[in-house]
Amino acid sequence: MLQHSVRVRFAPSPTGPLHLGGIRTALYNYLFAKKHGGRFILRIEDTDRKRFVENSESYILETLKWCHIEPDEGVGYGGVYSPYYQSKRINIYRMYINKLLKKGYAYYAFDTDQDLDKKRKEYNHRGLTFSYNSRIRMKLNNSLTMTEEQLHDKLRSCSSYVVRFKIEPGKTLKMHDIIRGNIIVETDHLDDKILLKSDGGATYHLANTIDDYVMKITHVIRGEEWLPSMSLHVLLYRSLGWPLPHFAHLPLILRNDGKGKISKRNTDSFNFPIYPIQWKIPKTKIIIPGYRELGYFSEAFVNMLALLGWNPGVEREIFSLQELIHLFSLEKIKKSGVYFDIKKANWFNKKYLNKKKEKIFVFLFEKIKTRSILCKKDYLWKVIHLTMDRIHFIHEIWEHSFYFFISPHSYEVNFFNKICHEHTISQLENAKILLYNINQFTSFNLRFVFQKTKNKNQTMQLFRLALVGVLKGIDIFIIFEMIGKKESILRIEKLINQIKEKI
Ligand code: GLU
Repeated sequence: MLQHSVRVRFAPSPTGPLHLGGIRTALYNYLFAKKHGGRFILRIEDTDRKRFVENSESYILETLKWCHIEPDEGVGYGGVYSPYYQSKRINIYRMYINKLLKKGYAYYAFDTDQDLDKKRKEYNHRGLTFSYNSRIRMKLNNSLTMTEEQLHDKLRSCSSYVVRFKIEPGKTLKMHDIIRGNIIVETDHLDDKILLKSDGGATYHLANTIDDYVMKITHVIRGEEWLPSMSLHVLLYRSLGWPLPHFAHLPLILRNDGKGKISKRNTDSFNFPIYPIQWKIPKTKIIIPGYRELGYFSEAFVNMLALLGWNPGVEREIFSLQELIHLFSLEKIKKSGVYFDIKKANWFNKKYLNKKKEKIFVFLFEKIKTRSILCKKDYLWKVIHLTMDRIHFIHEIWEHSFYFFISPHSYEVNFFNKICHEHTISQLENAKILLYNINQFTSFNLRFVFQKTKNKNQTMQLFRLALVGVLKGIDIFIIFEMIGKKESILRIEKLINQIKEKI
């Protein structure tokens, strides 16, 4: 058991809706916090105003609510480290930037975009890649290549500048990640990343590191895409003399069609939903449904997501949120990317469906009420029990059970055309007489009578067409028994008439 002061954060940027990976990061943070009696914090990382997308924040809050993984602290919840928006914390970042500058861990850089573009082109021309690093910085326009006086003049003349982190070359950086183990990076491979932008705003790296420290974050649990930033973050911590948090970088969620990872930037080309709840595209107002709208239960969604990259180490797969909290451990998270499988997501939903029979009842009841169909409660329950194993979602119940309430309004065209003959009519007329003569109209008796008839298979198919309209549905004799003799015969007569009309 860890100390009781575990503090983790979910730190999304408001650049659009969360996708599966984003909400899984939130979930793992939540599970870890709850497991250790700690706090789960929501921080909005809105340093990049250019990528700001309206409604992202309300989307994030609503999604967390839907998943029942609400923060203890942060945006929408308050807390002692308010504000939890990075855009409102610039004074804090400036204070620390000044410290870094004073200690010589950061420097001013005055190179214009054009200067840097020119350099990039020059390097490209020579088959090299330009990066602002320890090998090159002494040849560029920054405070490291100026006297103190020159620097003051430059700053006084209000030249636009950025502040860069000064990477110390020739060092071997040893780091640890709970999921990936030891990680070694040579500082010679790192560039001097911008910490303060020319508009005076902090970059993600600066704001993220400072906030994690100031907000007393003990464990940084985030997506693998942030692993390359870990070196810089660790160096920033060290430069400021701060103890390091623990790091855990979660594996990517991959598409199982081999087309790479699921990310915010390639959301159009999926053949499965990637948003937890619906997203209305601000510009076009087009609504993209999420798992919630498509009929997934939040418990099933959360259960599925929890196992997408984490192995609870037991045979079972169905866990309540409380059980997930109890079993969760960062050490059992997989290192390599995990494939997302929509069939598995549907399987999870189906498992939870069994616990939602009342909801199926209400749904079905509404369906028949709008059609003014009268039927007894018992009958509805029977229908539900007979068809439940065919559905994954509540709304699917109607297409799998309508024939218990109404006669089909059309027939499967191909099969109907195939059987449009005189002899089908006589076959159905004979069957009708047999049905008529069965006194106790039970599936048992019906099966007994029809098992001996000739052309049994085709007769069964004709019955199915008459009763259901398509060659699908549960055991035909049970359908007969459920709808009763009168309705069964009516449906067979209806089919006979349709065939007569056609030939
Ligand atoms: N703001 C980052 C994002 O949108 C979070 C990175 C982190 O958790 O450190 O994914």
